[in-house]
Amino acid sequence: MLVSQLTKLTLDIQGFRVGRVQGDTSGITVDIAPDRRHLLFCSRCGSAAKYRDTLKSRYFRHVPLWGIPVWLRYSPRRVRCGHCGIKVEYFPWSTGKHRFTTAFAHFLASWARLLPWKHVAQLFGCSWGTVAAAVAQMVEYGLDHQDLSNLTHIGIDEISREKGQVYLTNVYDLNTSSLVWSGEKRTKATITNFFTSLGPNKTDKLEGVCCDMWEPYAQVIREMAPKSTMVFDKFHIVRHLNEAVDQVRRDEIREKGQKHKDLVKDTRYIWLKNPWNLTDKQASRLSALEKLNLKINRAYLLKESFRQFWSYECRASAKEFLDKWFWWATHSRLKPMRNFAWMLRRKEENILSYFDMPISNGSVEGLNNKAKVISHRAYGFRSAKNYIRNLYHCMGGLPEPQIMHRFV
Ligand SMILES: [Zn+2]
Repeated sequence: MLVSQLTKLTLDIQGFRVGRVQGDTSGITVDIAPDRRHLLFCSRCGSAAKYRDTLKSRYFRHVPLWGIPVWLRYSPRRVRCGHCGIKVEYFPWSTGKHRFTTAFAHFLASWARLLPWKHVAQLFGCSWGTVAAAVAQMVEYGLDHQDLSNLTHIGIDEISREKGQVYLTNVYDLNTSSLVWSGEKRTKATITNFFTSLGPNKTDKLEGVCCDMWEPYAQVIREMAPKSTMVFDKFHIVRHLNEAVDQVRRDEIREKGQKHKDLVKDTRYIWLKNPWNLTDKQASRLSALEKLNLKINRAYLLKESFRQFWSYECRASAKEFLDKWFWWATHSRLKPMRNFAWMLRRKEENILSYFDMPISNGSVEGLNNKAKVISHRAYGFRSAKNYIRNLYHCMGGLPEPQIMHRFV
């Protein structure tokens, strides 16, 4: 019969037989029975074990056919294992932890990459918790089988959830642009956990670590990965510079009052944008403002001149430029620019290491944005753990269990 053939085709059931199939449009039940010619195995350790008794039948949700729900019905046997004592037997279609097949978990999890979990649950008539458990099962397998032996260059970045209330620290593989690790918060303990879970051997193989100029991280990296080159991320530095420029604009408005406020109204992005991205209207506004010797204009010129820094090919020339720029900024009589310049000076060592090892988090910026989108799918992951699981699921490039048939 067709359904039993399909079940055999889509399911790894060596050692078992497909029995009776019953059902109507509300659901199909497929009976699975043991093939007694095969040995029994312990579900905990995998060793061959002796039959003890048979439990009452259990239902495992399987991949739907023609939109009709399918259940496998099986009465698991218990075995007496030489190592583990009395355990349930191993059966290949399910981990036994959940009332669904590995194939169904795979099927739900594939959809969960494309849709919010709530929609996946609605679409296939199961609970939100089942979708969460299916993703968890895939991710657990993936993390157990993840191969990080070629990890050499990593980028560390943080994202905030719930309007900056909750931080997550993400570690990316800069060579493959995939998520390697994600942890709650943005503390020394968070990043320490990453290195601990990576282990000393793999940490020793790290050649480059790119991160924000965030001292707690920097301390841990120096301590735990002393052989790697730490590079402060170019994009973070530029972001700090832009923040300084914007602070100058706000300070000047506060200082000069309403008339000035009207003069520079709606110019915020003009000062921050790259000049070649300005619209014609913005460009002509900028050239009019440039004639007025405003503080914001001086900050803007400093910001634009800093662009040159990244173009140097060697550390010594970059250092020479940085010294000059430091002098300009500290003599600009613009406090935010001066503070930024001093920050560069304090962190100079790891900023200039960019010219020894030009790595940046630019290649994973897209992933970090994707992580934010996942977080903004407002359907609620109900806990940071689920959210992190979904990040691994969507961005980790994790290995998946082998099943006989790919569903999506
Ligand atoms: Zn065992």
